[in-house]
Amino acid sequence: MKITPYEIDLEKAVALIAEKNYKLVVLQIPEGLKIHYPKFVEFLEEKTNAEIIISADPCYGACDVLSSDYKNLGVDFVIQIGHNKIPSVDKFEIPTIFLNAEAELDASKVIEKAIPMLSGKKIGLVTTAQHLIMLDFCEKYLTEKGFKIFIGKGDSRIERAGQILGCNFSSARSIAKDVDSFLFIGSGNFHALGLLISTKKPVVVCDPYTNEVRKKELDDLKDMILRQRYGAIGRSMNAKIFGIIISTKLGQQRKKLAFEIKEKLKLKQKKCYILAINHFSASVLESFRKIDCFVSTGCPRIAVDDYMQYKVPIVTPIELDIILGFKKWGEYSFDEILE
Ligand code: SF4
Repeated sequence: MKITPYEIDLEKAVALIAEKNYKLVVLQIPEGLKIHYPKFVEFLEEKTNAEIIISADPCYGACDVLSSDYKNLGVDFVIQIGHNKIPSVDKFEIPTIFLNAEAELDASKVIEKAIPMLSGKKIGLVTTAQHLIMLDFCEKYLTEKGFKIFIGKGDSRIERAGQILGCNFSSARSIAKDVDSFLFIGSGNFHALGLLISTKKPVVVCDPYTNEVRKKELDDLKDMILRQRYGAIGRSMNAKIFGIIISTKLGQQRKKLAFEIKEKLKLKQKKCYILAINHFSASVLESFRKIDCFVSTGCPRIAVDDYMQYKVPIVTPIELDIILGFKKWGEYSFDEILE
């Protein structure tokens, strides 16, 4: 099925619905594609006998796996659109298929613009699930221009070589020592920012939708984010009561880490509570007025990307180590969910 510029293999879901005789199907659609919900529903209703429900909750990644609430509704199949499966997340309560939304765009012009901004000749190529289909072309194009291209393999959270998630840059870090800089193919700064902080190598962003290339803006954003993180750490230095956040989303759960954090806080005579949250928002935290600092073990981006939304600082587990004196600021690293 074509939703320009994306190609989504809904036929694969149709075949499974027929084969398994699924009756009640839920569609999980990322925010950027939700506007197209009528097309998805009409397509599935026309080609199958199943009833289709749309999950209206936000879906930001393949970490967000639907479970018992939907099982109780009698749902027997979930179609998640727009993400690749996270291989290590595999204990589904309801059978789930992940259908990537792949966009094959002409990247030649934007890469040409990026070439003068690249540092060195050894380049690491990374992208998101949507543009994995373009990696071969980009590799060939840059090789013909005299660059040596590296595409790294990630850990068990990463399905394909060269892919990064907002919470996992293992494919980039696996080649960081071999490359002079990274070229990121994709839109926005969300992934590129994490790539820059995680690998500590120069990053040039190539946006194939707008044909824009960015480097300085990303460097400035990184400096601003690190200043904010420094501020969040500083504001939490005298915190007495901590809230440790555990996500109930299957692919974001770091329960063991949450309890390790509890032990560290106890060691430093700090009081703490563990809070389980599914759909995280600033308003969810407002009822916990006595808490001086939250530590998120859920999606690592909660603390970093929405800093301005929170009255009380939210820090990552690594930042908490700095607050408690287990690590120094010089040892700062980006929080990632790794295998
Ligand atoms: Fe994306 Fe956060 Fe989920 Fe990672 S944990 S896949 S960054 S939403």
